[in-house]
Amino acid sequence: MEAWLLTNEVAVRLFFFFGVLGIVALWEFFAPQRQRQRSVLFRWFNNLGLVFLNSAVLRWLFPMAAVAFASVATERGWGLLNLLDPHPAFAFLVSVLLLDLAIYLQHVLFHAVPAFWRLHRVHHADVDYDVTTGARFHTIEIILSMGIKFAVIAVLGPQAVAVLVFEILLNATAMFNHGNIYLPKEIDRVLRLVVVTPDMHRVHHSVLPDECNCNFGFNLPWWDRLMGTYREAPINGQRGMIIGLSRFRNPNNIWLHRMLMIPFRPESGGYAINRRWDDVFPEGDGKKRSEGSEEGDETEGAGNAETSE
Ligand SMILES: [Zn+2]
Ligand SMILES: [Zn+2]
Repeated sequence: MEAWLLTNEVAVRLFFFFGVLGIVALWEFFAPQRQRQRSVLFRWFNNLGLVFLNSAVLRWLFPMAAVAFASVATERGWGLLNLLDPHPAFAFLVSVLLLDLAIYLQHVLFHAVPAFWRLHRVHHADVDYDVTTGARFHTIEIILSMGIKFAVIAVLGPQAVAVLVFEILLNATAMFNHGNIYLPKEIDRVLRLVVVTPDMHRVHHSVLPDECNCNFGFNLPWWDRLMGTYREAPINGQRGMIIGLSRFRNPNNIWLHRMLMIPFRPESGGYAINRRWDDVFPEGDGKKRSEGSEEGDETEGAGNAETSE
């Protein structure tokens, strides 16, 4: 099984990518949770355009993918699990868990460091929330993520198959939980004990900074509960909440070339986690920082409810 998975890596990845994309897209069509703001064709054309651009750049920059790098690490005895050599099943479980924890921490990092937040704004600037939002990341963020993943693999030493299964799982769950899909509350409540559901992750895409800085998990929901970043629901409800960033409301931001420019627009904004200093120093430095927040030149058509900080 392991050898078969590794030999057919590309086919297995494509099967799951297009399979989950198709299922969630159909689900969105027949049972959407929210009304869309923008045309689905435009969104798909640009968001998926970014996905293809990112895949091409990654292939060019990293001739060796994460799975192949894990094989090299195993051959050379790099990483904790290769040194300790535990039972393969145990090593597999630990690898999938810790890789997921690393993704959670990386996501928090992209919210906490203002320069990284600039990149991550591309994911959050989407004013709609659908299956393609799950893959909408700036190319530089994708390159940095790959570098971080290589470092984690070098330190942890997971088996190649664990990295492959983890990447397929993450890809599938990210598409599922970015789905604009309706799930009955009772099912959502049970499901989110084991996986991040669309209603759980959608809170993270709220225009309100407090909600945007919670529910960082993409796959397993436990890290948010453990680290105190879990929030059950948005204050304005799943259908009443405003999605996106207060600064980037211009409909033209949907275009791929405009998305790629988002990190280079002025001010990292008031969403980064360090804005919490505003609460500690309300009259001082913090006040200045909140003045330079995301509220700015692109609020047309946005209404003002979402600009409150
Ligand atoms: Zn985020
Ligand atoms: Zn997201």
